[in-house]
Amino acid sequence: MSTPRVAVIGAGISGLSAAYDLTRTGADCTILEKQPRAGGVIETRVTDGCTLECGPDSFLSAKPAALALIKELGLEGEVIGSNDHQRITYIWKRNALVALPEGVMMIVPSRVMPMVKTSLLSWSTKLRMGLEYFRRPGESHDRSVAEFVTDHFGEETLDYLAEPLLSGVYGGDPAQLSVGSVLPRFLEMEAKYGSLVRGVLAGRSKGGAAGPLFRTLKGGLSQLVDALVSRIKMRHAYVETIERSGNHFRLRADGNWIEADQVILACPAWSAGRLLSGCDARLAELLGSIDYSSSLTLSLIYRAADFDGKRAGFGFLVPKKERQRLAACTFVGTKFSYRVPDDRIVLRCFFGGIADAAILNETDDSLIAIARQELRRMLGLTSEPIAHAIARWPRSMAQYTLGHRQRVEEIRERAAAIPGLYLAGNAYEGIGIPDCINTGRAAAQAALNCGW
Ligand SMILES: Cc1cc2nc3c(=O)[nH]c(=O)nc-3n(C[C@H](O)[C@H](O)[C@H](O)COP(=O)(O)OP(=O)(O)OC[C@H]3O[C@@H](n4cnc5c(N)ncnc54)[C@H](O)[C@@H]3O)c2cc1C
Repeated sequence: MSTPRVAVIGAGISGLSAAYDLTRTGADCTILEKQPRAGGVIETRVTDGCTLECGPDSFLSAKPAALALIKELGLEGEVIGSNDHQRITYIWKRNALVALPEGVMMIVPSRVMPMVKTSLLSWSTKLRMGLEYFRRPGESHDRSVAEFVTDHFGEETLDYLAEPLLSGVYGGDPAQLSVGSVLPRFLEMEAKYGSLVRGVLAGRSKGGAAGPLFRTLKGGLSQLVDALVSRIKMRHAYVETIERSGNHFRLRADGNWIEADQVILACPAWSAGRLLSGCDARLAELLGSIDYSSSLTLSLIYRAADFDGKRAGFGFLVPKKERQRLAACTFVGTKFSYRVPDDRIVLRCFFGGIADAAILNETDDSLIAIARQELRRMLGLTSEPIAHAIARWPRSMAQYTLGHRQRVEEIRERAAAIPGLYLAGNAYEGIGIPDCINTGRAAAQAALNCGW
């Protein structure tokens, strides 16, 4: 029996993980990537001695898939954790930066005194949080994040905790996002305990994961991309269409036809939908119906000696209610060691989201002016940056809106009806890097299980 040919479309972390598993197991696998660079939204640049993450900067330690892959690739010695002893995140509220109270798990308070003392929330919200402890299990069902959070803790918690925290992950609108898909653990807690506070406290008493909240690689996440790329076969070509021909596939890439026995679509769902329109119109439609938000990062490098702004821990988030354009800002050198030399300060500004895709059309000069004007207002920063890096990510973050689970179930069913076709990426079961690695590796495993 000849070695099957597998085409993986998209060299983001999902596709690279799939191609790595297939290649090391002996498949004849080629990854097709339209950009001249692999990694998708993972991109590390080094400027003026600073390691700048243009896309993701780390992954959640609690999800083991990324660390497991890093270990397999022999990069364990490069892993660093976030400097959690310095972790303070601020929220911009009524013209001031207010520290996020300690012990808040996304939206759920788990410590009394920090909540009592904080000026982030009013007394009525604090009282409501206290009373939530006594909520009993009742009917629990999927609904919007906005409805869920308001139901448990009131509107202020939605505006000043849930919305800014989630907007960094999804760039989405809590009124559209499904709590069952975005915060599944909280929905489970609601079903079991009624109260989220009691659920979080019960989880904590069982002992949570030790170690830093986030992990990354000393030289940036591109180290992971490079290690994967060195182990696989890649071709830079834009895949225009996919046809099913007998029991195999034909892909047109940059005008040339490529034959494959199996195909893993590891590109965004909107791109996968376009490619499959000739194979299954309903599948294409479902894939195309998954919304995506766009985002943009702007890293500004300052001489530390010139920096005249307030230092704000790991950084700050700007709730939509208070937002002009800037959604979040990270003090890179405080969050992670090895990234920024002592004589530099790097601010990573995050823009975009479902409500402000238009920011991607601004010129570089205009973006820098917008960021500087907002940083002046929030940090009192007037110093001039000495260098910068800008990355635009159009339609890059999948939105798990209401009905997402059912949509994905139907997508999976229809894809399964096309033998040899598999889907991976951030559109389905999780948007974080570990989730994407899981989808890539699961797709590779499914292809391998197909019985070559
Ligand atoms: C700014 C930003 C910050 C983030 N921060 C974090 C973070 O800190 N931690 C975390 O865990 N996650 C973070 N995420 C989310 C996470 O990084 C992404 O969900 C994940 O990297 C997506 O990987 P992917 O391989 O599924 O998709 P992508 O990275 O989007 O890769 C898809 C690839 O497919 C290619 N492609 C598309 N269509 C075609 C075609 N027709 N032919 C050929 N190639 C094609 C694209 O060029 C691209 O390279 C962040 C995302 C963004 C945008």
